[in-house]
Amino acid sequence: MNSQLKIFNTLLKNKELFQPINPPHVGLYVCGPTVYGDPHLGHARPAITFDILFRYLQHLGYKVRYVRNITDVGHLENDADEGEDKIAQKARLEQLEPMEVVQYYTDRYHKFMDALNVKSPSIEPRASGHIIEQLAIVDNIVQKGYAYERNGSVYFDVERYNQEHKYGILSGRVLEDLYSTTRQLEGQSEKKNSFDFALWKKASPSHIMRWPSKYSDGFPGWHLECTAMSARYLGQTFDIHGGGMDLLFPHHECEIAQSTIAHGHGPARYWMHNNMITINGQKMGKSLGNFITLEEFFTGNHALLTKAWSPMTIRFFILQAQYRSTVDFSNEALMAAEKGLQRLMDGLAQLPKIKTGNNSDYDVNALEQKCYDALNDDLNSPILIAHLFDAVKAINSAADGKLSFTEQDLQKLNNLMGLFVNDILGLQVEEKSEGNSELLNNVMGVVLKIRQEAKNNKDWATSDKIRDELAAVGITVKDGKDGASWEIK
Ligand code: ZN
Repeated sequence: MNSQLKIFNTLLKNKELFQPINPPHVGLYVCGPTVYGDPHLGHARPAITFDILFRYLQHLGYKVRYVRNITDVGHLENDADEGEDKIAQKARLEQLEPMEVVQYYTDRYHKFMDALNVKSPSIEPRASGHIIEQLAIVDNIVQKGYAYERNGSVYFDVERYNQEHKYGILSGRVLEDLYSTTRQLEGQSEKKNSFDFALWKKASPSHIMRWPSKYSDGFPGWHLECTAMSARYLGQTFDIHGGGMDLLFPHHECEIAQSTIAHGHGPARYWMHNNMITINGQKMGKSLGNFITLEEFFTGNHALLTKAWSPMTIRFFILQAQYRSTVDFSNEALMAAEKGLQRLMDGLAQLPKIKTGNNSDYDVNALEQKCYDALNDDLNSPILIAHLFDAVKAINSAADGKLSFTEQDLQKLNNLMGLFVNDILGLQVEEKSEGNSELLNNVMGVVLKIRQEAKNNKDWATSDKIRDELAAVGITVKDGKDGASWEIK
């Protein structure tokens, strides 16, 4: 198995070579979000990457069963199976039932994915809805001798597994190296080796999310849900497994190990991993102050943003990089993307204005071939976009009467632009109201600046007046440690 397989180049070009393993559906499983915080850029990239794949496979005539899970239990604060469950922690801090946290952030996730024009998957299962399936896999692995119980928790025995199977085949990690890098944790843990991973964790007395099992009242390990849910909905072997590069190790490596013992083989024929996003050259992180949510991008309501960036600008910007490359966000790069997207959409709008002639000075069939070649080459969206810009150049020349198209060629070009720009890349003309909200963002920036100056001068009467008058027109101002923000109520 090779995570770097160029599946599209070799397989999708010849449809007969890419037959679904469980026909009639191509099985696509993508690791979805852990729903304990507001959706951010890191959520947008995998969603958009696999949205293009989903759309393109469907365009090629495949039926696709696309499963993208919601992690609502078992994802602990760190990968060593220690710390609090991320959702339970949020629920405790906000005095909510964990499932209220899950519902709230799942709804937020859907809202922002809709804004980005990301299609819903075919099935969106939740980890907490598949405890029985997960426990069956724990039993299976324990019976086969590849897991051990410690104080009510069950851990996968990676060392034992590695004797007969290779642990780390996807990421290229070698167990010998893991011994040296993780040794210091030993002694503090109930695991045999620190790289063993939890299949089942005994819940502490204060832990709210717990289910009964023969091992203990507890909850499943994070890696197990994807093995259970992919097998349930796509079969024990399916076609494509996707996710972000950060999931390659240990998450996907653990999925392979679990599946190999429980089902006799790894889960997927092909693996696809999208690369990471950086902001101004830095990794995105809460502690670095560059953690920008999608809502903040869409409103411009963040200190690092010069203005609001629309959902289609974000989508287009992400698509300007091939999914295996890193993407660096900056205001300058987003400005260029916004202009590029506008040029593309303006080009499309010119199409109805073109008068046709008796001959064509532009090879529409060659364009079609180049667009398909780009997508078939491992979803090379930047190359596809470059070809679409060439077409826009021709369209603009034709609209100026400097280039000619036959009626038939123009019709074909029209269809191709609609297909690649709207249907496959999922780019849409944005409503005019986006412009208004951008203006509102800029005006609010001015108002909040004046209010801040009043506060700096201890002119509380003015700062309170601004806050109250805004509240009266439905805008809530919130004071945080990084300055004030606002939202429409
Ligand atoms: Zn997963």
